[in-house]
Amino acid sequence: MVIAGKPVDRDEVRRGIETARDVIASAARRSGRRPEDVALMGVTKFQPLDAVIAALEQGVTLFGENRVQEREEKSPGLPEGGAEWHMIGHLQRNKARKALALFDCVESVDNADLARAMERIINENIERLEYMGVAYPILIEVNVSGEGSKEGVPPKDCLSLAEEILGSCPHLKVEGFMTIGPNVSDERAIRESFASLRNLRDSAAVRLGIPLPNLSMGMSGDYGIAIEEGSTIVRIGTGIFGSRH
Ligand SMILES: *Cc1c(COP(=O)(O)O)cnc(C)c1O
Repeated sequence: MVIAGKPVDRDEVRRGIETARDVIASAARRSGRRPEDVALMGVTKFQPLDAVIAALEQGVTLFGENRVQEREEKSPGLPEGGAEWHMIGHLQRNKARKALALFDCVESVDNADLARAMERIINENIERLEYMGVAYPILIEVNVSGEGSKEGVPPKDCLSLAEEILGSCPHLKVEGFMTIGPNVSDERAIRESFASLRNLRDSAAVRLGIPLPNLSMGMSGDYGIAIEEGSTIVRIGTGIFGSRH
């Protein structure tokens, strides 16, 4: 896919990032948390490479893409190092190898077959990829809202999936959960959805005996609420980069 369209407005990106940082800081303080405990992810899907560069210039170090191919297309021209990339879209097993090479974390693991495919690939490449002693971080995507259009494991199956991954994938490190908020305007419903992911995380951490520190929740329309409900990663696309190109 060639990403064409209007050129990136660097001032718009700068202002978008400033606003996002302000919202993050005030939402964190309102809920008695530290702003630095919430990571700002720039979601660059459908945005050209220049959008990534503009965000890097503003000190953004975490980026998300929802398609392997689009991340791959951004590779040429991307400065080496300095940024972390998370896969946030549905990942097919046959793309797992590429995803592992291109991303530092897959946030969208929602089935055991995918996790086992990732484990196998890491094992095959263990020396070359230097994963020895270090596990590859993943989040489990949970479909909290139950909306049929969404990927993610149903909340009731979330603990058993985490257990299965822990038991069969020693080179994957489950660091927490990810969700997409419900597609509604009712603020209370949105808040309940995020709170229920936090509760799931809290009880899973106790049951599994591991910390599960990360909750990736909140997008341009709802990240203030998500932070108040415990988000540690907010994924912001249009709120920083404007409409998708
Ligand atoms: C597109 C996308 C985002 C960002 O959405 P915005 O509403 O543009 O902020 C966040 N998370 C996922 C999984 C996405 O696909």
